[in-house]
Amino acid sequence: MLELKGKKVLVVGLGKSGLAAALFLRRRGAQVTVSDVRSAEALAKEIPALIEAGIMVETGGHGLLTFRRQDLIVVSPGVPMDTPELAQVKSFGLPVIGELELAARFLKGKTLAVTGSNGKTTTTTLLGEILTAAGLPTLVGGNIGVPVVALLDSSTDETWSVLEVSSFQLETTEQFHPSIAVILNITPDHLDRHGSFENYCAVKERIFAAQTAEDCLVLNADNTPCEEAASRAVARVFWFSIEHPVPQGAWLEQGYVVYRPAKNAPTEKVMPLSGIPLKGAHNVENVLAAVVAARQIGVPADVIRSAIEKFQAVEHRLEYVATRNGVEFYNDSKATNVDATAKAVAAFRGGIHLILGGKDKNSDYTQLADLLRARVSAVYTIGAAAAKIESHLRGVVTIQSCETLDKAVAAAAAAARPGEVVVLAPACSSYDQFENYEQRGKVFKQLVKELKD
Ligand code: ADP
Repeated sequence: MLELKGKKVLVVGLGKSGLAAALFLRRRGAQVTVSDVRSAEALAKEIPALIEAGIMVETGGHGLLTFRRQDLIVVSPGVPMDTPELAQVKSFGLPVIGELELAARFLKGKTLAVTGSNGKTTTTTLLGEILTAAGLPTLVGGNIGVPVVALLDSSTDETWSVLEVSSFQLETTEQFHPSIAVILNITPDHLDRHGSFENYCAVKERIFAAQTAEDCLVLNADNTPCEEAASRAVARVFWFSIEHPVPQGAWLEQGYVVYRPAKNAPTEKVMPLSGIPLKGAHNVENVLAAVVAARQIGVPADVIRSAIEKFQAVEHRLEYVATRNGVEFYNDSKATNVDATAKAVAAFRGGIHLILGGKDKNSDYTQLADLLRARVSAVYTIGAAAAKIESHLRGVVTIQSCETLDKAVAAAAAAARPGEVVVLAPACSSYDQFENYEQRGKVFKQLVKELKD
């Protein structure tokens, strides 16, 4: 285990996980400094607890010397690894890890980790509910809002920690070693941060880099980057597919979710497809991945089935909001990339009024053209990416420039006829007009609630 007593540790970035990491390190006897580029005013809420714990705080930028006099550097997921100060200390050979790696070294019990470009929160939440329903001592955390460090005090040798892990967190892992790792899919996202799709895939693959032959890796058989990753895995590989049977893992057969525990073993019927309460084929993929992971842990099929049947869409993930004048409204504010938006559109047969736009992430919206042509009645654009989206989709579908979400909701509600749907699935991040995707989703739901029937 990592010895922290008396060690000089710098925590870079004071987000939720950086703050939790700093306080944890201090409790373990380290001499802790935190450094953040934000001003003291912006961090006024966090600073008092840090000072009281005896932690040194640097705000408004990183002093180069701050980075030099340390034994260990802990980086928050929001801080890019190519920040000049970090690049330099790495070249000096100083250990640089993230909160996930730090916490994983102290976490007791076993770990089930879920990554992917889309579906992490949904699948992590579902697995947490399945394991809890099976009576296993379960903790849920990671990128899902509860830092892994916050789980440490509750973990025991019997615990299953179900962790959502993002590419930003995987960038700084070394020994992180989940007994079961799941990669739901790898599709282009965060290319602004990772530079290229190849780098992004390599970072995602770090989830299984420290696994051994006793561990289990669950991959999507319908996703080419996942298929390519399999050749580099040491762990036992299990698959899921919504398209065809797999050697070992889960797939669909005659309207049922089925599971095969090993090559050539008999298949088990887990549940009818009609029992999955979530919309969209992408959620069937999430369910299949969860079935494989839960069966590997030994959860009986009937417990898995009843937990899935009770599961509700996580807020802002293709969440049903209301019906107004016979038109259904869905909030998919978390669709912050092109693939998630494609999945939202594919979840409805047609008659879709789609709200797109926000802050562009260097995305290619022409990828949506075929789906939009087939299923979408009109697109309503908002935010900074509107002009780019309009130029990518000109001639494909009717587009109305709305600039803001309130105007888009009003225009879509006025145009949609009974039986049609209005979907906010913007394919962009929210930071141009909102604090985050949660606030965007809440504003959307409020606007829908205010519509007259
Ligand atoms: P993440 O935590 O990876 O962002 P979420 O469960 O929060 O995943 O879902 C993010 C967005 O992706 C939502 O718009 C959701 O509807 C969509 N989504 C969920 N599961 C999948 C999947 N397996 N493939 C593609 N899109 C998905």
